[in-house]
Amino acid sequence: MPAPQTAAPQTAIPLTSASDRGQTAGKPFPTEADVVVIGGGIAGICTALFLAKRGVRVVVCEKGTVAGEQSSRNWGWIRKQSRDPRELALMIEAQRLWHEIVPELDEDIGFKVGGVTYLIENEAEMAKRTPWLDHARAYQLDSRLLDPAEVDAMLGRTDRRFLGAIHTPSDCRAEPWKAVPAIGRLARRWGADIREGTAVRSIERQGGRVAGVVTEHGTIRCSSVVLAGGVWSRPFLENLGLDLPQLGVKSSVLRTTAAKPLSQSTFGALGASIRPREDGGYTVARSGAATFDIIPAAFRHFAAFTPILKRNWRIMTLRFGKPFFDALGQRRWQPDQMSPFEAVRMLHPAPDDPLLDDTLNAARDLFPQMKDTRSAQRWAGIIDVTPDEVPVLGPVDAVPGLFLATGFSGHGFGIGPGTGFVTAQMVMGETPIADVSGLRYARFGG
Ligand SMILES: Cc1cc2nc3c(=O)[nH]c(=O)nc-3n(C[C@H](O)[C@H](O)[C@H](O)COP(=O)(O)OP(=O)(O)OC[C@H]3O[C@@H](n4cnc5c(N)ncnc54)[C@H](O)[C@@H]3O)c2cc1C
Repeated sequence: MPAPQTAAPQTAIPLTSASDRGQTAGKPFPTEADVVVIGGGIAGICTALFLAKRGVRVVVCEKGTVAGEQSSRNWGWIRKQSRDPRELALMIEAQRLWHEIVPELDEDIGFKVGGVTYLIENEAEMAKRTPWLDHARAYQLDSRLLDPAEVDAMLGRTDRRFLGAIHTPSDCRAEPWKAVPAIGRLARRWGADIREGTAVRSIERQGGRVAGVVTEHGTIRCSSVVLAGGVWSRPFLENLGLDLPQLGVKSSVLRTTAAKPLSQSTFGALGASIRPREDGGYTVARSGAATFDIIPAAFRHFAAFTPILKRNWRIMTLRFGKPFFDALGQRRWQPDQMSPFEAVRMLHPAPDDPLLDDTLNAARDLFPQMKDTRSAQRWAGIIDVTPDEVPVLGPVDAVPGLFLATGFSGHGFGIGPGTGFVTAQMVMGETPIADVSGLRYARFGG
């Protein structure tokens, strides 16, 4: 039996060859743009796509590889189900945009409308999950409560183990490690200049407003900057003297060997959540099971995060974090100094093997078709979490020209096209297509 691999999740294919980083396809390094986007994850790449489609000169600066961090490591769920009402309208737009973007891509990204189903195992889960159906009704979603017989029929069981399930047939999935680079190539075809191996160290200001960015390869003059830096957004802002309560938690994932098809749906359950993959296996993980590295910022924001820690205390492991202490803990540097973003090109933490062993056992127990599957590959990612577990979208009032698209708290992949669309609108001074007023930076005093 081959040993399970511990490696990057079929790491996103770089858009640029290693020798060409920062100097894309022989094109000289840009000295001017309308908008610079910091970060080549799904938030930054989708923002660049929608700006480029409108003829805006946009440069994306990515310190490592497009989708090298969270955006290739996630489970690939594209769901409206159980969304916080503050982001539900945006998520509905995001799913509409996925359907528009996918036919324009040069690669099959495994986009499927297979539905999302959360299994309900006890009365406490029933009481926790079902009130959300009121929001679903308000938005006329197709979400509904399945009865035990319907759940058994979906799972191929006969034992009525579950009290029911919440099911949203129109929810989707995709292979994230393929999707984001493919959207990046689409953005390039529309004229976006995407620079891998290009860390942004700081922002230049004139009269208080954005005048450019300082990168490791030189300065790019621009009037607007979108910070879509994932877990790095907090240290970037701190260096500018701005505060963002955002912490990093490690989440581990595995993919299995091929299994008999179960259903087209992804399934969430307490012990294990699974998503069918294009390669015939499943992406498997345990929802909410995370390791929280305690870095200096954690102490400063501890009070803000206490409710999350209390809610998740059963599944969250607290430990003193040495691994990213230096990089994510560094607080001040000058634009002419090497920044933490150059020191760590890609966060690539080791997965939690005991947790994943336990999760796979739970998956085999919950889903009979997975009984004979084995672990084929394991990886982990660092999720950027805000105290209220919804993102920060929109302008920074203290620095005109600076916009944030960050803090997606473990559900930023599915909403990515919506994020990009409304961020492009806000940069252009337009009213966003969906109400995102509940996601403003100002809610944290910024
Ligand atoms: C294990 C796991 C499972 C998840 N499952 C799901 C799911 O099923 N569905 C879902 O919707 N979401 C899921 N998520 C969350 C989702 O992956 C993230 O919310 C989303 O990818 C965030 O995208 P982003 O662009 O904001 O950040 P990232 O993908 O982290 O990208 C930020 C990028 O910015 C770059 N960067 C940062 N600072 C700088 C700088 N100064 N200069 C240049 N570059 C910089 C980084 O290198 C990085 O590539 C999951 C996440 C994880 C880790």
